Amino acid sequence: MEAGGGAEDCCVKVAVHVRPLIGDERAQGCKDCVTVVPGKPQVQIGAHSFTFDHVYGSTGSPSSAMFEECIAPLVDGLFQGYNATVLAYGQTGSGKTYTMGTGFKDGFQTGIIPQVMNVLFSKIENLKNQTEFQLHVSFIEILKEEVRDLLDPTCLNKPDTANGHTGKVTVPGKPPIQIRETSNGVITLAGSTELSVCSLKEMAACLEQGSLSRATGSTNMNNQSRLILHLTSRFLINYILFSRSHAIFTITLEQMHKLNPVFMGDSSPNESMNEEYLCAKLHLVDLAGSERAKRTGSDGLRFKEGVHINRGLLALGNVISALGDEKKRKEGVHVPYRDSKLTRLLQDSLGGNSRTVMIACISPADINAEETLNTLKYANRAR
Ligand code: ADP
Ligand code: MG
Repeated sequence: MEAGGGAEDCCVKVAVHVRPLIGDERAQGCKDCVTVVPGKPQVQIGAHSFTFDHVYGSTGSPSSAMFEECIAPLVDGLFQGYNATVLAYGQTGSGKTYTMGTGFKDGFQTGIIPQVMNVLFSKIENLKNQTEFQLHVSFIEILKEEVRDLLDPTCLNKPDTANGHTGKVTVPGKPPIQIRETSNGVITLAGSTELSVCSLKEMAACLEQGSLSRATGSTNMNNQSRLILHLTSRFLINYILFSRSHAIFTITLEQMHKLNPVFMGDSSPNESMNEEYLCAKLHLVDLAGSERAKRTGSDGLRFKEGVHINRGLLALGNVISALGDEKKRKEGVHVPYRDSKLTRLLQDSLGGNSRTVMIACISPADINAEETLNTLKYANRAR
C-alpha cells in the first residue's frame, strides 16, 4: 500500500485545551479571563480573538471529544502507514502532562496516551486474523539538547547504592543517544531502548516506568532530597522536575497483512506475492514549559537550560509554520528541522504525508494571562 495522498490538505491541526481553574488558583482568588465563543472554535482573551480547528474544555466542547476528533484519526492513519505526531504545548501548569497522560498519576486513565493504547489494542484484536502485528515503544526526554533514555534498564531507579544515591544512575562509558537518518529518510535513535510489547499491560508498564524515570531522573537524588521532595507541593515538584524537558513517547506499529492466498496451479499458495508490509510511528510529545527563560530564574545554569528549551520550541514553531504555509510549501521553502534535537527527531513525522496535531494547553486564570496569550499566538502561527 502506498502511504501517499489524502493527507496533504490537513498537514497540521491545532486545538486548544482550556483546563478548569485549579485549587491553587481559586485559593488565590484568580478570575477566569478566557472566553470560548459558543458554538465556535474561537477563544478570546482581553481584546484578542483567535480561531483554531477545535477548542476543548471550559465552555468549549468537552475534553472527551478531543480524542475522537483529533487523535483517533491519527491512530487510524497509523494502520494505513502514516506517521503522526501529537504535541502538547503550553506554560508549566497549563495541563500538558494531564492532557497527554505522561504523569505517573494525573491523567493516567483519561490522558491521550492511555486512550491511544486502548484503541490500538482493540483494533489489533479485531484485525489479528488478517494481519500480523509487532509493536515497539520508546520513551525519551530531551533536556538541554541531550537525549535521555527513560526506558534504559540500566538506569532504573535503583535502591540506595554505595554512595547513598537513589534515582537515575548514568552508566559510565555509555555512548550518548544519537539521532540518525537512513538513506530513505527514516529517523532513528541509535542507542536508545526500543521495547517490543505484546499487550496493553506491557505498554502501560513502559509508560509508567518512563514517567517515573522522568520524575526521579532529573537529578541524582539522595535520601535527603527525596524527603524534601515528599514535603514539597505537587506544583513545585512539577515545576522543578518536569518543566524543562520534552518527553516523547513513541509507538511503532509494524504490520504484515496476510492476504487471501491465491493458489498457483495445484500446489501451495504463493505466499511471497500475497504479503504486504507497513511500518509507521506515532510520537506523543509532552513539550517543555513554554514560559520564557526570565521566569525560570536568573542564575547562569537555569538560564542555559531555558535557552536550550527555547531552541527546541523555537525550531518547532518555525518548522510548523513553514509546513502550514501552503504557498511556502509549494515553493519548496527550506524547513529548518536541523535547528534542534526535537525537530530533527520528529522530522519524518512532521510534514510530508504525516499528520500532526498540536494541542495548545492554557490556564483560564487571570494571573497567567500573559503566558496564555503567548501560547495562543504561538499556536496561531502553526495554522
Ligand atoms: P503541565 O504539564 O503543563 O505543567 P499539568 O498537566 O501538570 O501541567 O497540570 C497542572 C495542574 O492542573 C495539575 O494539578 C493537574 O492535575 C491540573 N489539571 C490540568 N489539566 C486539567 C484538567 N483538564 N482538568 C482538571 N485538572 C487539570
Ligand atoms: Mg508537565
